[in-house]
Amino acid sequence: MDYKEVIDNIYNEVKPFFGKGRVADYIPALANINPKQYGIAIATLDGQIVGTGDYQTKFSIQSISKVFTLAMVVRHMGGDLWKYVGREPSGTPFNSLVQLEHEQGIPRNPFINAGALVVTDKVMNLYHRPKEAILQFVRSVAGNDDIYYDKMVAQSEFEHASRNQALGHFMKSFGNIDNDVDSLIDVYCNQCSIAMTCEDLAKSFLFLANHGTNPHNNENILTVSRSKRLSALMLTCGFYDESGEFAFRVGMPGKSGVGGGVVAIIPGKLSIAVWSPELNEHGNSYMGIETLERFTTNIGISIF
Ligand code: GLN
Repeated sequence: MDYKEVIDNIYNEVKPFFGKGRVADYIPALANINPKQYGIAIATLDGQIVGTGDYQTKFSIQSISKVFTLAMVVRHMGGDLWKYVGREPSGTPFNSLVQLEHEQGIPRNPFINAGALVVTDKVMNLYHRPKEAILQFVRSVAGNDDIYYDKMVAQSEFEHASRNQALGHFMKSFGNIDNDVDSLIDVYCNQCSIAMTCEDLAKSFLFLANHGTNPHNNENILTVSRSKRLSALMLTCGFYDESGEFAFRVGMPGKSGVGGGVVAIIPGKLSIAVWSPELNEHGNSYMGIETLERFTTNIGISIF
């Protein structure tokens, strides 16, 4: 399969859709991004890397970071994590509070903000220096040490984090957060601010396509079973209240972020990352989803 030709064609088909979505503006540092950027990268398990458009431009990975912290925690805690966070799609927006009171401060899944905060709280319990540990994990799965926090984005989000603060305090009132909420929000805003390219992101999800083993250094990160479970969660919860629609249109486990990135995998084969900062009404990249739908349709391969 000539993946370069496939993505070049899709790039040209989807490019006219600039202007259909809106850049996230609730984090001021993200509101200033040039919306007319668009890149696609594919990394395959047999070592090919192809890209098109702005695939080597760094952007804020935002909620895609939730997959990395979840992998770090599942690796150490295994099934014990599921006492603190559920595994069901929420059907609510990423920053929703509504289910928490009814469900005793246990978030529905690890990819809505409430669930991701519980996971980051566990990272803080597991690692003495959590920010260093997260960065080190991301660099290792990406096979690239040139990955950093974007301190301006982290600071900007921290200053506008009332909603996430509320989620943290509310869960703490149920005893489901161990650390100080301000420190938790600081680590969380940093993990969301990590700046990566489409190429980095495609490479960094290969360990999931490879059933839990990092193909860059052969390190086993997750067992086959845990890797399957993490991918299942991406399929059912990775796009919040658009997860069903994403599975229906695209047919790959994936994860989005409000920076406009989307990453998805075909287990045993490849990982693909798309970036376009304009978001749809669910906070997912408009052109990212459009691109991935065309990708699985054109190559005739999905997880189904
Ligand atoms: N940092 C963002 C937030 O907490 C991440 C949300 C997202 O990417 N969906 O609001």
